[in-house]
Amino acid sequence: MSIVSSVGHSLSVFIPSFSISLLLPSACASVVYCLYREVTKLGYIIEAVFIDRDGTIGGDCSIIYPGKFKLYPFTKQAIKLLKSLNVKVFAFTNQPGISRGESTVNEFEKELLEFGFEKAYICPHTHEEQCSCRKSSSELFVKASNEYDIDLTKCAMIGDRWSDMLAGANAGTKKILVMTGAGNESLGKYRNKWADIEPDYIAKNVLDAVLWLLSSRKIT
Ligand SMILES: [Mg+2]
Ligand SMILES: [Zn+2]
Repeated sequence: MSIVSSVGHSLSVFIPSFSISLLLPSACASVVYCLYREVTKLGYIIEAVFIDRDGTIGGDCSIIYPGKFKLYPFTKQAIKLLKSLNVKVFAFTNQPGISRGESTVNEFEKELLEFGFEKAYICPHTHEEQCSCRKSSSELFVKASNEYDIDLTKCAMIGDRWSDMLAGANAGTKKILVMTGAGNESLGKYRNKWADIEPDYIAKNVLDAVLWLLSSRKIT
């Protein structure tokens, strides 16, 4: 009961903001609310969601540095929706351009915090540096888990690449593949790189991913 009442306040904010800003019928928002309430009654609550940057929240398959990077029109809603339910929202991104001197950790952090993320977990290294923090490693998940005292089995990773899915699998989070960015390639020519892993859900985009996460009956 404490879990239900602890989200009760947030949900009262969630319903109007969700239904108005997405221009969906209020009945639709009510369905999401009811499903979420059922899940929380069962004792499950999502503690944090890790979201990839390039091709997941905006941009495309290329690297677009802070200043020129544009969010997809639905991304802020997805982030807001999670935050209104007290779910921590982290960015998790590989940015090898930092190591090559093309941008800085500070520029990425500033951008991602402005987008609404609680914190940005960034690997600044190139593949050749063979660091331990680059996705598909789970090292930065573990760091977040220690910093925020979160249970990674109650978290999700949303991304467009095989390395996002592998990172989620290595950390024990739910894995949601989005079909924006490199989503098609991940299911096509790169499927062999994560052949042993099934995504928990294949989403049209990050907002679809978040709505599925909040309404899914599969989460245990
Ligand atoms: Mg990506
Ligand atoms: Zn690294």
